[in-house]
Amino acid sequence: MGADYSSYAVVGVEIDQSKLFTTEKVRGCKCDMGDVNPETTKFCPLCGKEVWKEEETPIPAYNEDADSGPFYRCLGPYMLVFTTDYRRCFAGVILCGPADGDRGDEDALMAELPYDLKSIRDEMRRQLEPLGLWQEDKFGLWAVQHCSY
Ligand SMILES: [Zn+2]
Repeated sequence: MGADYSSYAVVGVEIDQSKLFTTEKVRGCKCDMGDVNPETTKFCPLCGKEVWKEEETPIPAYNEDADSGPFYRCLGPYMLVFTTDYRRCFAGVILCGPADGDRGDEDALMAELPYDLKSIRDEMRRQLEPLGLWQEDKFGLWAVQHCSY
């Protein structure tokens, strides 16, 4: 078994992952409980399961299974990059990363900056603010390391 180390340079914003999901209360079983009020009952008298459970649903803009090469998670038009432990996540324009191909033994890599950073920020704000995911003080150039093992 080996480990794959990847580094990314991302112009974008850190994402609060708790906002990528909504939590809703759903029935834990499909039993017809008859006269028993499901609102005031914790366990189903027929099957013993909890009557209600919390279910996390990704917000519509969050695609956990996007097929974009190594970036299999997307937020709207933006690809997401995660740290190794998946505790932190960044959305934005990826200036360079493993998707650029095999870099062999190169220790450093230059990404050209043809981008208009102000328009990237303005567009990201426009897309992410309505979702409650825009954080002005978290926009910048992020260097992100990810190790998969
Ligand atoms: Zn039941």
